[in-house]
Amino acid sequence: MVYQLSSYYESVQLIEDFYCYIWQGRGNNCNSCLFANVLRGERPHVIIDPGHVTNELREACFDYLVKAMERDGFKVDDIGLIINTHSHPDHCQANEMVIQKSQAWVTLSEEEDEFRSTLGEKLCSMLGIKAPRFTPLFYLKEGNLNLGAQNKVELQIFLTPGHSPGSICLYWADNKILITGDVVFYGSIGRTDFPSGSLSMLKRSIDRLSQLDVEYLVPGHSTEFGSIVKGRPNVERNFQAVKLFL
Ligand SMILES: [Zn+2]
Repeated sequence: MVYQLSSYYESVQLIEDFYCYIWQGRGNNCNSCLFANVLRGERPHVIIDPGHVTNELREACFDYLVKAMERDGFKVDDIGLIINTHSHPDHCQANEMVIQKSQAWVTLSEEEDEFRSTLGEKLCSMLGIKAPRFTPLFYLKEGNLNLGAQNKVELQIFLTPGHSPGSICLYWADNKILITGDVVFYGSIGRTDFPSGSLSMLKRSIDRLSQLDVEYLVPGHSTEFGSIVKGRPNVERNFQAVKLFL
């Protein structure tokens, strides 16, 4: 594992060609993940949740992400695909910036896209936040998503509603990595008090995820307990602990 620390992102290279960018700023922003050099063609990188452009404390989240990726030798211009775990602005506001630089495709679940273009937009305007603008190329469905030539990265998509109506989690069985978005965190769970949230759905989603064989749980946000949960026993303990909230 290789760590690089700047004041705004900690870059954690979990395995070859897979990087987690852990947000370290004071305001709100999500963690991002990068599958490097996976797609065929000129734009080989895949990013999960590029996050905010600028957050509520006016921290330039996206500029810092660009810098953090550059330190690892990657350019945003070379991103070919953006995967959004869900459509909250702190996860996909920067889609637009990535697309400007790279013409990347975007994907998320159909349920989430429908929420985004209806209640999600209304919520953004009520909160005075610019609604994220992008057009998905295709929708993520429960099941396999293979990236790259010879299915270099074989992911399993889990539809895990609760925090938002169409949240997804990504499971990379070969490396026992689970990317959870805002469904489950280190010692905590995603909020369900938004008008579109559902604690009973979140419970069902977390129950399903807890059946998986996971070595690294990579959440969408860090908590006071930590960011990435490492080691199967710790992941199991984490699931046991967060189920107490449900
Ligand atoms: Zn969220």
